Amino acid sequence: MRIYLDYNATSPPAPEVVDTVNRVLGSEFGNASSVHAFGQRAKAVLDDARASVARLIDADPSEVVLTSGGTEADNLALRGAAEALEPSGRRKIVTTGIEHEAVLNTVKALERQGWAARTLSVPETGVLLPQTFRAAIDRETALVSVMHANNEVGTIQPITELAAIAREHGALFHTDAVQSVGKIPVSVRELGVDALSLSGHKFGGPKGTGALWVRRGVRLISTMTGGRQERNRRAGTENVPLLAGLGVAAQLAQARLGTASARIALLRDRLEEKILATVSGTVVNGDRAARVPNTTNISFDGLEAESLLIALDLEGVAVSTGSACSSGSLEPSHVLRAMNLPSARARNSLRFSLGPGTTAEEIDFVADILPGLVTKLRRLSRTAAALR
Ligand code: PLP
Repeated sequence: MRIYLDYNATSPPAPEVVDTVNRVLGSEFGNASSVHAFGQRAKAVLDDARASVARLIDADPSEVVLTSGGTEADNLALRGAAEALEPSGRRKIVTTGIEHEAVLNTVKALERQGWAARTLSVPETGVLLPQTFRAAIDRETALVSVMHANNEVGTIQPITELAAIAREHGALFHTDAVQSVGKIPVSVRELGVDALSLSGHKFGGPKGTGALWVRRGVRLISTMTGGRQERNRRAGTENVPLLAGLGVAAQLAQARLGTASARIALLRDRLEEKILATVSGTVVNGDRAARVPNTTNISFDGLEAESLLIALDLEGVAVSTGSACSSGSLEPSHVLRAMNLPSARARNSLRFSLGPGTTAEEIDFVADILPGLVTKLRRLSRTAAALR
């Protein structure tokens, strides 16, 4: 049995998405910028995809810039807005320590260009406190980037409240909604943000697809220089087949929001409760209420999470750790560190992320094998420690 519980890393595309990509790749080869019929057909495919993405986030299609994914959308939002905002004289960016590297490393790049960055910590809940945010933002702040849902612990940030505070100070607000779009209802109007990033492969679309929504009137300078595609905001011939797949994935995600999310939340809670009840020394990281329905992040006392990940993989179960194993040393997750969790707890953490394909049988299988695997690994690690 192969069980996939790593939907936050990527998700399998639905058959309808695969069929659409294949069909469009073969039949709609026109360049969407061409005036002739071939081009216009390709443009119509793009327009449909754009409209589906816009519907999923309650936006106007004309405000959607199609990109090669979440990373590009984050780069375009931050670098594009920063360049456009330079004449304002404000040179400060406020963000959080729990952002994805796509935001964190882009902010670092802007720092090298003379921007001042304020990277905020969050409490153990994994949810930024509005008062912390309010204290950090001032008249120097040009730009804010706070993610909607976190990829490792799944916590949802109070974006509506934070965006209102940013507005009071005249700062532009970007949110990375890569891990919320397709999992919970997302409305750019209700959030009150100025720009929002999403990624297709996190909700059943093809990898290498995404979008940046930009509120009408917000100035953004294209980071990719070249042609005038995407209303002059993203140069380069559009990847029509993959973006057609993104559109279909957006439609499917929208149709299953609600019922599928509720079912997934029940399965996630069942897995979590079983683990907490049957495996000693386990704790859930991050707020358990303010979370996307598919994610749980659990620390297992006295155990390197990597070894449990490998043991689960040998049983056919795919999960993930927040820690990156680089050059032999285990780096604790930057997210859990920004939440001020002890480094042992950060190193012991596993992320289980479920999706529309997850079944109750799969969850029960994982919950049933975990206690035995954990006992065995803890015993091994005690023996190894005694031999050292
Ligand atoms: N932002 C968040 C929160 C993510 O989880 C990811 C992917 O893991 C990204 C951005 C990057 O998206 P993409 O893989 O489409 O470049």
